[in-house]
Amino acid sequence: MRSINPYTQELIAEYEEHRLEEVRLFITKADRAQHLWANNPLSERVSYMRALALTLRSQKAELARLMTSEMGKPISESLAEVEKCAWLAEYLSEESHLGLDSRDVITEARHSYVTYEALGLILAVMPWNFPLWQVLRLSLPAIVAGNGILLKHASNVWGTALSIEKLFIQAGFPDHLFTTLLLTSKSIEPVVAHPAVRAVSLTGSESAGKSIAATAGRYLKKAVLELGGSDAFLVLPDAELQEAAVTAMQSRMLNSGQVCISAKRFLIHEDIFDDFVDAQIDLLSQLSIGDPMLPTTHIGPLARPELLLQLEAQLQASLQMGAICIYGGKRFNSHPQILEPSLLIDIQPDMPVWSEETFGPVMPLMRFKTLEEGIRIANDSRFGLGASIWTGDLELAKAILPKIEAGSVYVNSMVKSDPRLPFGGIKHSGFGRELSVEGIKEFVNIKTNWIN
Ligand code: NAP
Repeated sequence: MRSINPYTQELIAEYEEHRLEEVRLFITKADRAQHLWANNPLSERVSYMRALALTLRSQKAELARLMTSEMGKPISESLAEVEKCAWLAEYLSEESHLGLDSRDVITEARHSYVTYEALGLILAVMPWNFPLWQVLRLSLPAIVAGNGILLKHASNVWGTALSIEKLFIQAGFPDHLFTTLLLTSKSIEPVVAHPAVRAVSLTGSESAGKSIAATAGRYLKKAVLELGGSDAFLVLPDAELQEAAVTAMQSRMLNSGQVCISAKRFLIHEDIFDDFVDAQIDLLSQLSIGDPMLPTTHIGPLARPELLLQLEAQLQASLQMGAICIYGGKRFNSHPQILEPSLLIDIQPDMPVWSEETFGPVMPLMRFKTLEEGIRIANDSRFGLGASIWTGDLELAKAILPKIEAGSVYVNSMVKSDPRLPFGGIKHSGFGRELSVEGIKEFVNIKTNWIN
């Protein structure tokens, strides 16, 4: 497998895929390590989280450079990603008991109680867009609960995948508790089928989700899916317009537009539509585009060449259907993987930039007239990951919240992931939750204990 720098287009490294016999050996070792790990009391398991936070911070610069070179995200965002992972480890070191302490239940038994015990090995199939955060977001709560992790990372970030395995060793975790398998998606099935593997979690596209869920079903393994999104960003006429415009731009352009929870469908009330467009053009014109290793860069390359081709096809099809591109719309300096931030109006719901997930710096804006219409269009998507609502009337906002079909709804803020709050979607955005108490409990045997 070849790892190519998406900005310089240079070869970074070549990796050999692990052979099936090697994978079987890794799983045997991981199984042994997991059983020993699960025997440690929770108080001991959480102490490793503090060590991991320190290790992450001590290697922040190297990890950030590696991620940026492999998948092209602006270096300032890579640094922030490492810091966020350290925050998650610290959160778990303090709060894991909220999800894992046993719970007494008063019954006619002498003593009845519920415990939360490890399942075994969890296979983590992960995407490249947050190559450290996505992996740790799933792995750390699972490990703190006593599980072991087998990582199958996206094929373009295998350098990061190997570095994560090293991080666990450097932080003092037992050998083989976290194992990176260098596998492509075609070779996953024997891992899912292995008896020591008790569950699979995939973060990625809808099509990968369908495939892994079918494989998990074939072997009766639990599956958690964190899939794509097309979050609505609904701006009501009484919203603080400049703040909404700045947040809209940030939400859409973060990671060069390659974020599952970035706002992707912008619904702007007709009374403020033109002002919002003007503000957006002004903001986009201030973005610095180009070399992601520069601390000043806001927009870099897309991670893989085919992603740009796919995005351009969505853009072109939408333009042919009548959308108008009023800013950007072409490659930046003819770079093979960079698209200029692009603003589109005259959008119809069946256009690909609206009905499909767009993974890049493309911002379609649609007008709406009434609140009911805005909510209806916001919900008219097969995805249900997040949504952001902007209004000065917080009582109205509270009344809108239950009407929005999404795993997270943020008022006057962008949708974000936070160790303290559960994260996940509904509809085609997947099922199951990561982070917070709900995420800590996702890969456990909820066991009933009855003593007479
Ligand atoms: P992807 O192509 O679906 O790949 C994700 C992972 O799944 C990779 O490790 C990939 O391996 C593997 N994979 C692909 N097809 C598979 C199959 N048929 N069977 C088993 N595994 C398969 O997604 P991506 O392009 O890396 O990431 C972008 C997508 O992820 C977007 O849709 C985004 O919204 C979503 N995402 C969701 C969340 C969330 O939390 N909801 C977070 C981040 C990203 P290879 O690389 O070897 O193909």
